[in-house]
Amino acid sequence: MSLLRSRHYQEILRRLYHGQTCVEKYDLLVIGGGIVGAASAREILQRHPNLKVALAEKENAFAQHQSGHNSGVIHAGIYYKPGTLKAKLCVEGLKMSYNYFDQRGIPYKKCGKLIVATDESQLKSLNDLYDRGIANGVPDLQMVERDKIQEIEPYCQGVKALWSPHTGIVDWQYVTECYVQDFINFGGTTFTNFNVVKIDESPDNSEYPISVYSRSMKRILTKYVLTCGGLHSDKLAEMTGGSKSPRIVPFRGEYLLLCPEKRYMVRGNIYPVPDPRLPFLGNFPLFKYLLKIKFLPEFLSNDLSNGQ
Ligand SMILES: Cc1cc2nc3c(=O)[nH]c(=O)nc-3n(C[C@H](O)[C@H](O)[C@H](O)COP(=O)(O)OP(=O)(O)OC[C@H]3O[C@@H](n4cnc5c(N)ncnc54)[C@H](O)[C@@H]3O)c2cc1C
Repeated sequence: MSLLRSRHYQEILRRLYHGQTCVEKYDLLVIGGGIVGAASAREILQRHPNLKVALAEKENAFAQHQSGHNSGVIHAGIYYKPGTLKAKLCVEGLKMSYNYFDQRGIPYKKCGKLIVATDESQLKSLNDLYDRGIANGVPDLQMVERDKIQEIEPYCQGVKALWSPHTGIVDWQYVTECYVQDFINFGGTTFTNFNVVKIDESPDNSEYPISVYSRSMKRILTKYVLTCGGLHSDKLAEMTGGSKSPRIVPFRGEYLLLCPEKRYMVRGNIYPVPDPRLPFLGNFPLFKYLLKIKFLPEFLSNDLSNGQ
């Protein structure tokens, strides 16, 4: 039998040809492998195991942006306006997160959080925050006096503080990686180095009406797309036919690390009372994944005063 006619050779040819021309097809493609994309892909596949689901990420690994560079806090839901979805999800999310960490053996620390009023002028805002936290159902939230502040954080001084004992810290990058691993275990497919640059209709395939292209012109056909692009959400929204607005406006943030010999001075998260004029600015030390203590002196923008 000649080589050309051998079945084995034909199979090699078929596979080579198939490998070059075959376009992957999915019921759902989730774009963006941060914590939101990974958690969504995982949850959808867990609820609908018969679906063919893929997760596409532009970097060569998952959680390389916000989800791998945040402060590592497990928030308790103190700040959000009562009755809003954010308030509800934050309070529920805290419980669900701790349950997941326990099941999955993910290390975390319930180090608590103090929001400290350093003078009398901040007490009204602190009381308002307490009322919000109670209305939101933040567990075991307490208003504490000077002595209790010192008991919780011996090197912290203030006139009064809010104490949230269930606030904690975790490595959210590792949590995202666990979600991705669960997704793979449930039968999901992942693509890294897949930078989506175009989302279009598939004129040639009505069963899979959406074509998603990467920068290297790889193509995935899919029935549905879920975009979870973090700070690139606006660009992805536009690719799906959405409007240019709203746009993501970036701010530069900076932090300092407390030197190891002074780490004993901070036990948990210490926050200032938020200033309503600058809602997302503040100095606060917090634990980073049990290892380092970060000081977030401020978020810098070129010119906050003129609103840019
Ligand atoms: C400084 C800072 C501190 C924070 N601290 C906390 C905290 O302590 N606790 C807390 O709960 N939250 C915190 N947050 C918020 C939290 O980190 C974010 O809400 C969360 O990480 C958002 O996840 P994401 O998946 O939406 O975004 P990201 O983690 O940014 O993920 C988006 C992903 O989409 C990918 N992507 C984008 N465009 C494309 C494309 N075209 N093709 C393919 N992939 C694409 C990106 O590469 C990225 O991996 C903090 C945020 C910041 C910025």
